[in-house]
Amino acid sequence: MVQFASDGRPLPSPTPVSQPFFDGARRRELMLQRCPRDGFFHYPRSRCPDCLGDDWSWEKASGRGELHAFTIDRIGHDPALSSRIPFAIGVVELEEGPRMTANIVGCELEDLRVGMALKVEFEDVDETTLVRFTPR
Ligand SMILES: [Zn+2]
Repeated sequence: MVQFASDGRPLPSPTPVSQPFFDGARRRELMLQRCPRDGFFHYPRSRCPDCLGDDWSWEKASGRGELHAFTIDRIGHDPALSSRIPFAIGVVELEEGPRMTANIVGCELEDLRVGMALKVEFEDVDETTLVRFTPR
């Protein structure tokens, strides 16, 4: 079931597995799971996507990455977000390797370029903290 913020935006619903990711965001830390054999992975899951091991640990990531791909929502595909258009949704390739989907903020939409250097940024929305990226 989707939860909505007081401003109407849909919010993520942390699970026992993903809660440390959101706890880290609240502390202004980008947390990733790391398998001792295969390295970092994202999104949060109970087993490594490569070896299916469950002996991963949470580690603080650099928060730096590059824009791998993006799109701009100019028409409000999700009615709950239509008041926020236009906005950018990006796939960010983190320095640690995994790719993460997030809003790209802090620059003109026309200035977005694949390969541009980004850094993580956090936004508190009610009791949740959202992860997004901005140019660095
Ligand atoms: Zn693994």
